[in-house]
Amino acid sequence: MQAEKKKKVIKTIRIDVDKCNGCRACEVICSSFHASPKYSSNNPARSRIRVIRDPIADIYVPVYAGEYAVAECAGRDKYTIDGKEYDECAFCRASCPSRSEFKEPDSGLPLKCDMCSSDPTLEQPLCVQWCLADALIYEEREEEVSEETTVDELEMGLDALANKYGLNKLNELLAKMTASKKG
Ligand code: SF4
Ligand code: SF4
Repeated sequence: MQAEKKKKVIKTIRIDVDKCNGCRACEVICSSFHASPKYSSNNPARSRIRVIRDPIADIYVPVYAGEYAVAECAGRDKYTIDGKEYDECAFCRASCPSRSEFKEPDSGLPLKCDMCSSDPTLEQPLCVQWCLADALIYEEREEEVSEETTVDELEMGLDALANKYGLNKLNELLAKMTASKKG
């Protein structure tokens, strides 16, 4: 049986690397918006966008966090830009077990760009609004996707918790939480 198709608005941020000046305002506002409570702190280590910087060569590349990867991938690429060699995983968007990028510093849980999802919805994601150099451009398009491919943040978080603490522990905790909500 074919998976049911549905329309989905795909939100993306196009990056114009030539315009980025490495100011890191995007990192500041992203971490601040996602602090709990909102705007109570800012720590770029918690940001879902990272700017890879080489000020001497005037190279700044914003990379925003994508899906969580359960295992590190086999394919690796080396990048050389203006004579500088970058780490194999430097421009990867995944939160992955083999590196510390895009992980919540205290819990180790994966960070993923959620396009600043909030209620009420923002007109544009905050990193786009705060990028005065116009290096980040918000775009929307409609696509047909199958139900199976729509992995949401909750599923990603549960998957990461199961990997970190084991499925049994997670089941135990969920059972405990269910019981306390009912009681
Ligand atoms: S706010 Fe814009 S110019 Fe500044 S680092 Fe981020 S992407 Fe680059
Ligand atoms: S869109 Fe929002 S969540 Fe995503 S990187 Fe920008 S500020 Fe962070």
